Amino acid sequence: MKNLILAALLLSATPPPEEPHPVIILGGGIGGLTAAVYMGRAGLSPIVIEGKNPGGALAQSHSVQNWPGELDISGDRLAEKIHKQAEACGAKLFNEEVISVDLSSFPYTIETRNTFNHDKKRTLKAQSLIISMGTTPNFLGVPGEQKYWTRGVYNCATCDGPLYKNKRVVIVGGGDAAIVEANYLANLAQEVIILVRKRSFREGLEEVRKKEVLARPNVTVMYETEVKEIHGNEDELTKLIITTKGVEKELPTDALFLAIGSKPNTTLFSDRLSLDKEGYIDLKEGQESSIPGVYAVGDIVNNMCKQAVCAAGEAARASLQAEKWLSTKKEPSEPLK
Ligand SMILES: Cc1cc2nc3c(=O)[nH]c(=O)nc-3n(C[C@H](O)[C@H](O)[C@H](O)COP(=O)(O)OP(=O)(O)OC[C@H]3O[C@@H](n4cnc5c(N)ncnc54)[C@H](O)[C@@H]3O)c2cc1C
Repeated sequence: MKNLILAALLLSATPPPEEPHPVIILGGGIGGLTAAVYMGRAGLSPIVIEGKNPGGALAQSHSVQNWPGELDISGDRLAEKIHKQAEACGAKLFNEEVISVDLSSFPYTIETRNTFNHDKKRTLKAQSLIISMGTTPNFLGVPGEQKYWTRGVYNCATCDGPLYKNKRVVIVGGGDAAIVEANYLANLAQEVIILVRKRSFREGLEEVRKKEVLARPNVTVMYETEVKEIHGNEDELTKLIITTKGVEKELPTDALFLAIGSKPNTTLFSDRLSLDKEGYIDLKEGQESSIPGVYAVGDIVNNMCKQAVCAAGEAARASLQAEKWLSTKKEPSEPLK
């Protein structure tokens, strides 16, 4: 009898298993927030797990000038506006980060932990997921880099290049990205210097474009050159300490653009979702990943458009696809691989 009472007490103390949420959005950048607006407006009470960086990468930009309808707005302010809009549409946003994902059975399971208290964990179930966890930029790891990040050191010429009209800018990198950034910046800046660590650019670059860019009168290249330190005043970067073939010198500049790549935040998905060779999420149809009901948007997808407006557009499309998927209320017909 005692045992029965104990068992009954234990059972009553165990909360009933939570109903799966229709949709959980992983990431609180422009992609995730836009999906939250769409899914909220569809009456699907989306849950957004914002991660360590609410507002996402754009929140680092103090001047966004290519968001339709805004002449000039800080990334932080723009994200805050969409955040409020998502809440008004019925989304619930949480200061939590995803620490594990189980896509092997339906409904899908994610485990999160509180961003400020890592011991506070919970498990959530969802019928569909929209993944918008962005990328982590590669850094040089030299002194001054973090201090002047977004105050002279950037990783996106389209985003921040226009701040350096008629100025001298330096790009570091020896791949496609360096060439693309140089081409863009050469239209604006007075002088563009590309620093390449090796004796030549990476093999396999598009030769014609490379030649065209390097032939531009305001573009020069310094090979076998590395950035050692980044210096400036209280507000902004003013010069670099570089070595060319081991010889150290100062290089005055107004900005440094890192074109040394970034890594998609896909480690949590690598054993389940199909990823491309660079680790970006592969898309099957529209924004749908290799697993039904699981969508991916923004910078975590290799979309050749690392821009806020693209993340937002893809989020709208993923939301419409997810809505359709949910309306069929079907479990994946084939066993999940
Ligand atoms: C300095 C800078 C300036 C830029 N300026 C411009 C600009 O002017 N115009 C423009 O169009 N684009 C600009 N961009 C590019 C733009 O910010 C990105 O294309 C856009 O933010 C991509 O949105 P996203 O939602 O895909 O990813 P992100 O904005 O990167 O958001 C990723 C989100 O995922 C979350 N996350 C990561 N890991 C986890 C996890 N484990 N669990 C839960 N959440 C997680 C993060 O906290 C974050 O909220 C800029 C980028 C940078 C870095």
